[in-house]
Amino acid sequence: MSVRVRFAPSPTGFLHIGGLRTALYNFLFARHHGGAFILRIEDTDQERTVPGAVENIIDMLRWVGLEFDEGPHVGGPYGPYVQSERLELYRQQVHILLERGAAYYAFDTPEELERMRQRQRRAGIAPKYDRFAMRNSFTLPSEEVQRLLADGSPAVVRLAVPMDRDISFDDLIRGRITVHGRDLDDQVLLKSDGFPTYHLANVVDDHFMHITHVIRGEEWIPSTPKHILLYEAFGWEAPQFAHLPLLLNPDRSKLSKRHGDVAVDDFRRQGYFPEALLNFVALLGWNPTADRELFTLEELIAAFDLTKVNRAPAIVDRAKLDWMNAQYLRLLPLDRLARQLQPLLQELGYPDYPLDYLMRAIALLRERVDRLPEIATFGDYLFIPPRSYDWQYFRAHWRDELPQWLEELLPVLEQTEPFTAELLQQQIRQFVEHRGQPLRALVHPLRLILTGKSVGAGLFETMAVLGKAECLRRIRHFLTTELPTAQLHTA
Ligand code: GLU
Repeated sequence: MSVRVRFAPSPTGFLHIGGLRTALYNFLFARHHGGAFILRIEDTDQERTVPGAVENIIDMLRWVGLEFDEGPHVGGPYGPYVQSERLELYRQQVHILLERGAAYYAFDTPEELERMRQRQRRAGIAPKYDRFAMRNSFTLPSEEVQRLLADGSPAVVRLAVPMDRDISFDDLIRGRITVHGRDLDDQVLLKSDGFPTYHLANVVDDHFMHITHVIRGEEWIPSTPKHILLYEAFGWEAPQFAHLPLLLNPDRSKLSKRHGDVAVDDFRRQGYFPEALLNFVALLGWNPTADRELFTLEELIAAFDLTKVNRAPAIVDRAKLDWMNAQYLRLLPLDRLARQLQPLLQELGYPDYPLDYLMRAIALLRERVDRLPEIATFGDYLFIPPRSYDWQYFRAHWRDELPQWLEELLPVLEQTEPFTAELLQQQIRQFVEHRGQPLRALVHPLRLILTGKSVGAGLFETMAVLGKAECLRRIRHFLTTELPTAQLHTA
């Protein structure tokens, strides 16, 4: 039987790192086995549905390069792929369970349920639906049940969990998991508004969509025994289950919004590369080899093995993501990076530059930053002349001969052809030696004049990227700037 897996998000929010990891592991498993990767939208909790969430999930997965074989946006033989469009199917299926005695009607009002919970709290027992004390098919005469249903009284359908036996399943990552029926709640399957709960819809859909492997977060382990009971009651073969380890913050708290952004869209907007994010997320709970951390999607597909996924929680470490992104910044082709940088510069209101200029700017700085947008901020001087000079810092390198030297340097630079880092270094060295000075006597001030900053890439390389005309323009501008003489001379 060919592998079929699904990513089944509830559209209650935008795609976050945890969802991306689940989607990616499903994708890697499907591609590794030549199977199908399916998107199913689990929107049975209509009140919690967030507008735009489905679009965001699809867009973000497309951005990182995970394409679905079936789903609401691409179609497929087992649609519709949105649960709110499959309500009739769930109602039909729940009747099968009712007929078989695997499920039952319950008529309790919210107030009655609350009183039940209070009683249980007072008695010090875990809250759980008390099948034999409440108003349902077990406790009411069948004529009464029929009458209530015929009257249209609000009713839910609950799962009749067997209380006398264990329920077990084999998890591909965690091994055999067993719980006792008496520790499970009689889960609501169909709500009074006719909508199924997650549990019913999930099992019905996994069956009718021919899902072979359910790969999802560890938080769903407590639900799985209920799902197993449903498969048994329907007489269906259950898929195989694999529950992925929890994701934690570096302080071992549960990954959450409170610890900075976890939405994939935020990472995209901050200029992380999809390749880097995917590579980072792939290693949250699994590593193909101990000696490497950078993998292409093809390599991840080839190596993926569900049984090698860790059980221990994975720590989401932003510093590691930054490191990984920096590796990709050094590796990705310059023309692609330049095209990506262009709109960022536009947003900052910088002038338009040809792609080959941007490529040279990126090549100059990409070893020094983690993310592409930092080239526009850290390296702003490559795109706009310095707006001011750091006179404080200047003072340490100031000498009164400087303006004179700069006047004399102008024709030297004018004649430097080609305007390369090598030739510039040679010319400027000669220039200072001729005046009996060390190279740094001019290098520090020149850097400040040309970039406005005291740190950056090599001065001569920077000058070569800026080009002759711009270097001359910036030096001339400096020479017309009024010097804060008093400031420069205070000791
Ligand atoms: N709708 C569930 C979620 O939001 C899916 C869990 C599952 O994959 O079964 O995560």
